[in-house]
Amino acid sequence: MPTTLIDEARRTRRCGHRAPAFPLPGSAGRRVEKASVRYRATPHGDQLCGGCAFWLGPEAMSGLCSMVEGRVAAGAWCAIWAPR
Ligand code: SF4
Repeated sequence: MPTTLIDEARRTRRCGHRAPAFPLPGSAGRRVEKASVRYRATPHGDQLCGGCAFWLGPEAMSGLCSMVEGRVAAGAWCAIWAPR
């Protein structure tokens, strides 16, 4: 039976660690849904996926993000954007 994101948050709390604001791929083994991080196809000011710390750009696997599921456009944006 697959572990849900809520189960993962509960498990994290039982271990005495603070639950993250969103599940990290390294701990949960999966990425979050686009809708949950307000993903959109356009930049937010000067913030865009191509300049994000989580972007796995052309030099890795083009169009992928280490935090958000599915294909991600270089010119898109989401609410967990972080500078490189
Ligand atoms: S802005 Fe969001 S979707 Fe884009 S690379 Fe960063 S974390 Fe991934």
